[in-house]
Amino acid sequence: MSTPPASSIWHPFTQHGLGEPIPEVTRAQGAVLHLADGRSMIDAISSWWVTTHGHCNPRIMAAIAEQAGKLDQMIFAGWTHGPAEEVARGLRAIMPESLTRVFFSDSGSTSVEVALKMALGYWHWQGEARSRILVMEHSYHGDTIGAMSVGERGVFNQPYDPLLFDVGRIPFPATGCEDATLEALERYCAMGDTAALIVEPLVLGAGGMLFYSADVLAQMRAICARHGVLFIADEVMTGWGRTGTLLACEQAGIEPDILCLSKGLTGGAVPLAVTMASEAIYEAHLSTDRARMFFHSSSYTANPLACAAAAANLAIWREEPVRERITQLSASQASWLDKLGQVYHFDNARSLGTIAALDLKSDGATGYMNDLAPRLMAFFRERSVLLRPLGNTVYVMPPYGITDEELATVWDAIGEAVLSF
Ligand SMILES: *Cc1c(COP(=O)(O)O)cnc(C)c1O
Repeated sequence: MSTPPASSIWHPFTQHGLGEPIPEVTRAQGAVLHLADGRSMIDAISSWWVTTHGHCNPRIMAAIAEQAGKLDQMIFAGWTHGPAEEVARGLRAIMPESLTRVFFSDSGSTSVEVALKMALGYWHWQGEARSRILVMEHSYHGDTIGAMSVGERGVFNQPYDPLLFDVGRIPFPATGCEDATLEALERYCAMGDTAALIVEPLVLGAGGMLFYSADVLAQMRAICARHGVLFIADEVMTGWGRTGTLLACEQAGIEPDILCLSKGLTGGAVPLAVTMASEAIYEAHLSTDRARMFFHSSSYTANPLACAAAAANLAIWREEPVRERITQLSASQASWLDKLGQVYHFDNARSLGTIAALDLKSDGATGYMNDLAPRLMAFFRERSVLLRPLGNTVYVMPPYGITDEELATVWDAIGEAVLSF
């Protein structure tokens, strides 16, 4: 495994002091990454949950190339362009009907920051003193200060704790413990100064691929609605088919007041995010008073190249059998998990849609810092598989275009790992 010599790059979520190899990737196609040293890797985590259809999808690549010949970037405050309008129309056609407004930004974290600002702005302009944000234990919503504030506190954000704002925490609704979650939510909502609840619907990703039921999700939404508390669905990971449906919220039959989308929005090709909001939230900011406008922008808001990629992604969803591919992959994932479970022993096997996860036995530290993770990662890399376990939780979340052979290689490697660790 070759590491480029004397690189000055400071990588994300990487402890350079450990001197672990940093492989260089030169090309990618479908579910395969090609390395500078001639080897290839099966990307079993969709390059950190972003790649949906597959790497270098020809329609998305062509859309970016075509757009690159027309318009690269432009100011979006008070100006517009075709690709952004096309994305907004496309989203309105397939996303929940009550989400009538589309606000662009450029990452999952910023889409969450925007959602929080919209919620606070809504209450502010309604003249109600509501600013408490409710969050679910073990959640992850991104790494900016606001997004960290609404996420799980721990080793990830300890140094920054003095800057993180206070939130109300409700317990994770593990099977059998749902009542505690709903009761805590009810208590907080009844306090009257609660502005919003933000949740990852059905699956807590970075928190350890933790699943909870659609029924609890529906009940949480109902409690919020009863108290007028805004319901923010962070579908940055779960959106675009990951859990088997376009949105995880669909499985609970609910529509949020605010929806965060990113990762698969461009098929995972280039950065782009949207925060969709209900008409009531938009209208709370609507006025002839300039002081009441929504004060949020980033330089690359609705970048035309990124919007062209997102428009192509939306066309793929409309015109290709994406849902069928997802159903097939979901069935394969469940069957591999089942097959492995009959031969080996591991804990907490679970799958939902295209996501499958299991926990390896381990006596090390619990959670993310379990030292099994880096050893497992190296083990999988030797078997040409890119997996990045969360502590002792191994999960597979591949691009929808992964072939049966590639998926078999991934699960064979996991089977070997179960035996070896
Ligand atoms: C990845 C993720 C984010 C952050 O998205 P970035 O694009 O990495 O900033 C936010 N929420 C959830 C649920 C995520 O999985």
